[in-house]
Amino acid sequence: MEKAFPIKIGLEIHGYLDTCEKLFCMCKTDFLDAKPNSLVCPICTGQPGSKPMAPNSDAIKKMIQIALVFGSKINYSNIIWQRKHYNWADLPKGYQTTISGMHATTNATSGKFKGINLTELHLEEDPAQWNPDSGKINYNRSGLPLIEIVTEPEFSDAEQVIEWLKSLLLSLSYIKAVRKNAGIKVDVNVSTYGERVEMKNLNSLEKIRKAIGYEILRQVENHDKGIVQTRDTLAFDEKSGKTIKMRSKEGAADYRFIPDPDLSMIKIDKKIVNKIKSGLPEMPEVKLSRLLKKYKVGEKDAKILTKNLELVEFFEELVNHCIDTVKNMSWVTIELLRVLNYNKKTLEDDDVEILPSHLAELIKMVESGKITVLKGKQIMNDFVPKSFSLAEHKGEISNIDDSAIENLCKQVISENVHVVDEYKSGKVASLNFLIGQVMRLSERRADYKETTKILKKILGGSE
Ligand code: ADP
Ligand code: MG
Ligand code: ZN
Repeated sequence: MEKAFPIKIGLEIHGYLDTCEKLFCMCKTDFLDAKPNSLVCPICTGQPGSKPMAPNSDAIKKMIQIALVFGSKINYSNIIWQRKHYNWADLPKGYQTTISGMHATTNATSGKFKGINLTELHLEEDPAQWNPDSGKINYNRSGLPLIEIVTEPEFSDAEQVIEWLKSLLLSLSYIKAVRKNAGIKVDVNVSTYGERVEMKNLNSLEKIRKAIGYEILRQVENHDKGIVQTRDTLAFDEKSGKTIKMRSKEGAADYRFIPDPDLSMIKIDKKIVNKIKSGLPEMPEVKLSRLLKKYKVGEKDAKILTKNLELVEFFEELVNHCIDTVKNMSWVTIELLRVLNYNKKTLEDDDVEILPSHLAELIKMVESGKITVLKGKQIMNDFVPKSFSLAEHKGEISNIDDSAIENLCKQVISENVHVVDEYKSGKVASLNFLIGQVMRLSERRADYKETTKILKKILGGSE
């Protein structure tokens, strides 16, 4: 029998650093909602004679944070910006400015994340966006600060890569280092029997999963046919789900790296690194274990909470409002998420402002029996985009008393003779319809248990 073949997968991950300004100019960076070519200047459009400004110190800080999270070895000196040349429509200057290249000292080396060793990480600028169909170029992304993280080829299947990338993105979101919703661009290297191939620029987890799956199969089938894999650069075509060869090793790009004479060497101050280190926030695993131990949150809920920094921070603030958060957990992990999902919003959205103090107030009202659970949920429906103090909404939230419920029950019974008959002839579910009608008429202020009890009493059933 043939020996099992080794699958090796290594990644080069590019993430957008979350800074206000671009890397070498003062153009703004929120490219997701911007009109094409509205965030541009002579520098980031590569106009003749324009020179880069000193690199954005926020980008350098975020790079240091990321390096620290991975336990990487930060390089403090001899960090030289290189010009990486290639000719493509998305690169008006003819070169990309980067801290990488053949003999370059990168920003940091080694490090580890979730069992995978990291080779290095470095800063570089993003090129523009070129649409090959229309020929149009959008320079909004040109000059955005990117972090590139290179892993050792230690992955062995697509699922492992996807889970690892999800964890990586979550951790990076905890330090607010990379831009949310901007996505990532990953070059995926895969080898099986022969040389490795590099699949360029995969910009979603789904594409990465499909491309790896396709590529492993293709290489194994080729091997069976006796075809030897050469070192190729490939593109993944989403429509066909196949990889397409762009160039072979012989045709490998010659980037002609040279130091950029317009930029000075970066020097990293150890004191600044220490300061950043002491200010690093908790990582998801630490948060998770604190939720379990300190707040006694169940494991399932703790996992839901820690999947999202804003949500877990919301929860931790709620704890300060003297309510039994474990008992009332579903108000966060179910109700709050339900309302946000329904409105297609997240707590991070700028127009969403839900205060833990308001939810705490609502939970207290429910706990003390001042409002029903149903009413509480209904009030929460109105918490998007802004939550409010219930004190200002007194009129609509007071519960109604039993005699009022009884009157409503009588009204519902007289208006639904048909349903009442069904119930009396044994169709138990008909009662739910009647209860629902009482809820509707009371605008959900009637207590559910009380309503059920009263309806059964009037209809002559047992309790
Ligand atoms: P290049 O400059 O051609 O991109 P690098 O040495 O920077 O080459 O390697 C880039 C990526 O290739 C890394 O992510 C690394 O893990 C991956 N890689 C190296 N060797 C292999 C291999 N045998 N199989 C799969 N991936 C590999
Ligand atoms: Mg590469
Ligand atoms: Zn600019």
